[in-house]
Amino acid sequence: MSAPAIRQTADHLCRISAAPPSRPGRAAAWLGRMAKRTMGRAVICLLALVAVIAGPLPGVGPEEAVAGETARAVGLRFGMHPDKTRLVIDLDRRVDFRAFTLSGPDRVVIDFRNLDWQILDKGENSGAGLIARYRVGLFEPGVYRMVLDLSQPSQIDSMFVLPAQDGLPPRFVVDLSRTSAQSFARTTLKGEPEDRFDGTKVAAAPQPPAGQAAVAAAPILPDAARPRARTDGRRIVAIDAGHGGIDPGAIGITGVQEKSITLAMAKALAQELEKTGRYKAVLTRDRDIFIRLRDRVAIARAAQAELFISIHADSVQNPRTRGLSIYTLSERASDGVAAQLADSENKSDLIAGVDLSTESAEVTSILIDLARRETMNLSARFAGHVIGQVQPHTELLTKPVRSAGFAVLKAPDMPSVLIETGFLSNRQDEKVLQDSAHRAKLARSIVGAVDQFFAAEQTWSRL
Ligand SMILES: [Zn+2]
Repeated sequence: MSAPAIRQTADHLCRISAAPPSRPGRAAAWLGRMAKRTMGRAVICLLALVAVIAGPLPGVGPEEAVAGETARAVGLRFGMHPDKTRLVIDLDRRVDFRAFTLSGPDRVVIDFRNLDWQILDKGENSGAGLIARYRVGLFEPGVYRMVLDLSQPSQIDSMFVLPAQDGLPPRFVVDLSRTSAQSFARTTLKGEPEDRFDGTKVAAAPQPPAGQAAVAAAPILPDAARPRARTDGRRIVAIDAGHGGIDPGAIGITGVQEKSITLAMAKALAQELEKTGRYKAVLTRDRDIFIRLRDRVAIARAAQAELFISIHADSVQNPRTRGLSIYTLSERASDGVAAQLADSENKSDLIAGVDLSTESAEVTSILIDLARRETMNLSARFAGHVIGQVQPHTELLTKPVRSAGFAVLKAPDMPSVLIETGFLSNRQDEKVLQDSAHRAKLARSIVGAVDQFFAAEQTWSRL
């Protein structure tokens, strides 16, 4: 065995992948077991030490993880073994990371701090062995998330970054092996991961105190009692660019990602609204980043938005289906297409590797029910205005006003609609949605609908 090979093998074996148990009594027994198990390793570790000393001494080179500096992922491959699946990512410097598992569906999530994934960015990718698919994207500022969809329940046997050596770049390595559904379920994360990028499998962070639910960021009040934000008399409109970061949304027939279409459209709408001088536009995201569904609503409510417009451009099975449609919230979907779309839109948090098992049940009260009923009427009214305004300028889906249980439309006191600007599964729609002139035209007609909405509201309040 050559010295580099020994170093690499030792690097694997010197690591202790199992986390120590939390109870002190068990910890002693565990230490005993680990001591026995590592006796054999000690010899190899010693060999590795000799090999390392014999070779060039590793200095603080560009491969070291440096706080605040961004590492680049330059290559990715799978290693298939009878008992495990290995994933290797080539890097240009070391990177800090953490990992955890989620069930329903079974996933392994790995978060990297300051990792630039641009070279390898292809949206959703197919995996190998125990990894059915994987995707990577910006999860929150400074954190790149990789989600591995598992083909079978699997455990993380080991994960580490190998330093650069023998002309090979630093590599991130994770080994997965099959496990039972029961033991997988026992070790999944419940809640938010700990903020600890130390290369281990992390546990759930302590729960925030009750009452800090994101949707409750602003108190729920009947419309008349809601304070108006001071914006020089301008009305506040929230614009929500669907998807983003690790969640690309639908992929068009030529590969265009929904998240970039929605962001461009949201920015165009914000610009046209602000241009009138009558509106202040609040974007839930202004770049390619993932935002949870509930946080999108929370951002709008915290900004005291009086209208919430979520922008999408999804895909459906039938490539001939095309045209704009607009959705409001309802318990039961108005039709099959609406149900299918709500289903795929509501999967955003799941795609991004967020644990949904601890989401608190929605609070219901008579006050919220009353506010919601009024809000649903206003939402439907606004949806009608939008269709009236965009009709001369764009193709419409048959029955363009529909309803379904979209999670992002659930603010009880803020009229909310979701506009499917077209279908990326249709060639013509995909083409026009990439045209900035078309988007600007669409934005101007939506501004017309916003004008009608607030003008009507003023008429009622004078009665
Ligand atoms: Zn969408």
